[in-house]
Amino acid sequence: MPLQIALMLLGWQTGYIKVYLKGSDYAWWWIPLSGLLALFLQETYYYWLHRWMHIPSVYKLVHKWHHDSQIASPWTAFSFHPLEGLIQAAFLPLLLLVIPMHLYVLIGLLVIMSISSVINHLDIEVYPKWFARHFLGKWLIGATHHSLHHKQYKYNFGLYFTCWDVIGKTESPYYGQLFDEKSPH
Ligand SMILES: [Zn+2]
Ligand SMILES: [Zn+2]
Repeated sequence: MPLQIALMLLGWQTGYIKVYLKGSDYAWWWIPLSGLLALFLQETYYYWLHRWMHIPSVYKLVHKWHHDSQIASPWTAFSFHPLEGLIQAAFLPLLLLVIPMHLYVLIGLLVIMSISSVINHLDIEVYPKWFARHFLGKWLIGATHHSLHHKQYKYNFGLYFTCWDVIGKTESPYYGQLFDEKSPH
């Protein structure tokens, strides 16, 4: 995260990074749309990168560091090989070379990235029982979804949303059952 912020500040000063401060510089609807678009593009980037990192030769070199935590904990959210950290940190600065974003949207994304990473590595389900089957909730990833990735390896590669796991047929068949067992209420 500090590296990401340093890269973005450098890019902003030199004019390459398209972060704007005046809301009226672009249409008002670009503020929510740019945030949602960034989350979806990051999801796509991460899902396919994550699957690539599970190819055995790449896994041994890079991604194994993260999977050394078979049972995830909030610390696992920050436990990566430096190369994986760099590839992940590169996403936002690269995106901002292409699309303009209001500073508050950028700050919101950095907060979402940090909080969701900690929630997904809690290994304690925080969402209620109906969540995994709700028409909106079933598209969001939480602690049970990602804890299955740390135990089963070949399932649940997503970051925020389950869409690519559904399309790529990589969602764990045990997700619904385990969610019911772990969900508090
Ligand atoms: Zn993995
Ligand atoms: Zn993880």
